[in-house]
Amino acid sequence: MCFHKQRKTFIRTLANLHNLHNISQLTYTKPTQMSGNAARRKAIEGIASLTTTTASFSFKEESVEDLYGSNVFSLDKIQKSLPKAVFKSLKNVIENGGKLDPAVADVVASAMKDWAIAKGATHYAHVFYPLTGLTAEKHDSFYEPNGSKTLAIFSGKTLIQGEPDASSFPSGGIRATFEARGYTVWDVTSPAYIIEGVNGSTLCIPTAFVSWTEEALDKKTPLLRSMQALNIEAGRILKLFGDAEPGFISATAGPEQEYFLVDSRLYHLRPDLYTCGRTLFGAKPARGQEFEDQYFGSIPDRVLAFMMEVEREAFKLAIPLKTRHNEVAPGQYEVAPIFETANVAHDHQQLVMIILKKVARRHGLVCLLAEKPFAGVNGSGKHLNWSLGSAKVGNLLEPGEAPHDNKLFLIFATAVIRAVNLHQGVLRAFVASAGNDYRLGANEAPPAIISIYLGEQLGEIFAQLSAKGFAVASKKRNGVLNVGVNALPALSKDAGDRNRTSPFAFTGNKFEFRAVGSTFSIAGPLFLLNTIVADSLQYFADRIEKETKGDPKKLDVALQELFKEVLTEHGKIIFNGNGYSEEWTAEAAKRGLLNLKSTPEALPQVTLKSTVDAFKRQNVLTKRELESREELSYESYVHSIRSESKLTLEIGRTQIYPAAIRYITELKASGLEDGVLEKVSALATGLVPALDELNVLREELKAGENAKKNAIFGRDKVLPAVEKVREIADSLEELIADDLWPLPSYQELLFLR
Ligand code: ADP
Ligand code: MG
Repeated sequence: MCFHKQRKTFIRTLANLHNLHNISQLTYTKPTQMSGNAARRKAIEGIASLTTTTASFSFKEESVEDLYGSNVFSLDKIQKSLPKAVFKSLKNVIENGGKLDPAVADVVASAMKDWAIAKGATHYAHVFYPLTGLTAEKHDSFYEPNGSKTLAIFSGKTLIQGEPDASSFPSGGIRATFEARGYTVWDVTSPAYIIEGVNGSTLCIPTAFVSWTEEALDKKTPLLRSMQALNIEAGRILKLFGDAEPGFISATAGPEQEYFLVDSRLYHLRPDLYTCGRTLFGAKPARGQEFEDQYFGSIPDRVLAFMMEVEREAFKLAIPLKTRHNEVAPGQYEVAPIFETANVAHDHQQLVMIILKKVARRHGLVCLLAEKPFAGVNGSGKHLNWSLGSAKVGNLLEPGEAPHDNKLFLIFATAVIRAVNLHQGVLRAFVASAGNDYRLGANEAPPAIISIYLGEQLGEIFAQLSAKGFAVASKKRNGVLNVGVNALPALSKDAGDRNRTSPFAFTGNKFEFRAVGSTFSIAGPLFLLNTIVADSLQYFADRIEKETKGDPKKLDVALQELFKEVLTEHGKIIFNGNGYSEEWTAEAAKRGLLNLKSTPEALPQVTLKSTVDAFKRQNVLTKRELESREELSYESYVHSIRSESKLTLEIGRTQIYPAAIRYITELKASGLEDGVLEKVSALATGLVPALDELNVLREELKAGENAKKNAIFGRDKVLPAVEKVREIADSLEELIADDLWPLPSYQELLFLR
């Protein structure tokens, strides 16, 4: 077997291995010597011969009610397994914060262990959320030797605190390796759960990850801190309105996740996809999304089977998935849950990304979470729906029947408007990455300019508020939408219409931050929103408290002035028009709004004085913690450019150039003089210096030591060189005989399932 053949065999075996669960559904074909497009054809044959997907479970036999939460050590299960007093003490910590009594922790740990072992668990893991944005876990066995036998042990101390060897997690300079101590601490507000593996299960404990100097090394710690801040400041406002005990005011989040599915066989023929998660080459398909027939279209059987299995896994973990549908691009889909408390929504979102990837493999598919897996085709985002409230006061961003009279709604919405305007740059920076740069500002995703969409009715109310104060604001009510068919009931019309072009839209009773990228952890955008809104609420509360001095009769006047002043100053962030238009770019510049087009342009906003001050006032992150995050974002931006440019070089040199040379040889042999040979030769000849140039720039990038400088160099020099190579390669793809082309085409990737 030649080396090439061995390698192909190995890759195919790997591709099949990922489908362990449904191995019976797959036919393993003995690989043969392949060159040119033989491997592609084999893969396509496999997809073409797929018969109906066979069911691996049925919700009839195992109902959603029975499954739901079955793998979660939820409060009701805890209650059943604990003595009354112990449960009360734990519940108090969960609901009101504070430290867990070690004696209580021991009892909880023991009950948790018994439950987990009964479910087949042998190990436990402190799950944490490092700055990579991914989920990290280190597994330890419950079992310890006990004489000649073994005993399952799990103490309260082990439950509450862990110490993973964390020196290789990025900290952005907070922690040198010699002082690598980092601790994981159980987040009691997020329940423990079980993850099932093929051969056994693991008890997972959601944790925050901090250094021994108490600095946050993760995404959860600032999220929890920001929720505390929001609760404090929202509580002060509610108190001014006469509610001294509103309950814990929590941020709520409902993240919509967009993703692509490609067949695993084709995926394994694209090193760019399995290494970088997105294609670095590929000519535009003959048919794109211009027909718009995919959006909300009927879901193919194979995809639906996958989606239902995703839901089944999610339900076991009490993740309330609600919506599934086709998205705009071919092969693109979306899943969305019902909203939850922000930190639980965050943990669940991380799990959803993992489940999507795992379950896709079982169906011979691969789930692509990257923001822009295919050039020229719609990218994927993660719309982050955000609001705040408590069980007692309800949703504080609910405008109700008469928003102009709803002072509570108006003050919270105004706080958001002020926060977003003041911190527009850092909002952009928190969604900045090499991957999301390809999406933001493209004519399909929200622009890089942050603005707020309020809709016609609310827009008018806020315009009047800013001019005259709330007493005279619009009296326009929600209308009734007439569908024009008598048999259908009249629908109630939302206070806000839809606008898909806004990066930050008010959608009925929540704000939707749409600039978040599909690979992102929602923790960053969430704790940023919580922090800046808390900071605005603090400013409001300080002012009103001072002006009214506890006299509720003075509240109206104080509010009137506040609204007028704040909206006059910050109203420029409100924009209800088309965010994709060129006029908006010009108008936004006139208004003095930021247009931070790339990651290196956006990142300095993270450590701006206004950002640092807000984070400090709200006790969410220190200057040093913010600096470490900025530094790390530069590093990962550069890292991404490094690996993508390396792969561009490799594929260009070892797959595309050879295909061109083979075709040139054939054309020469044919003796025909129809101009094709000249075209192909010119492109192939251009490819070589373009690759060499890329190589030189890459080396220079590698040698650079300053992350920020590297990022700028990467953006200005390396990315254009990558683009140049791609341009030539894509032109070659359109000319070279298909049987010589090694990479699956966009057509195949997007349309074959
Ligand atoms: P769409 O924006 O596609 O019309 P929906 O209006 O159904 O979708 O809501 C999208 C997401 O917003 C869902 O995950 C939903 O649970 C979430 N959502 C609804 N209300 C709130 C809220 N008060 N706080 C946070 N998220 C919310
Ligand atoms: Mg939406």
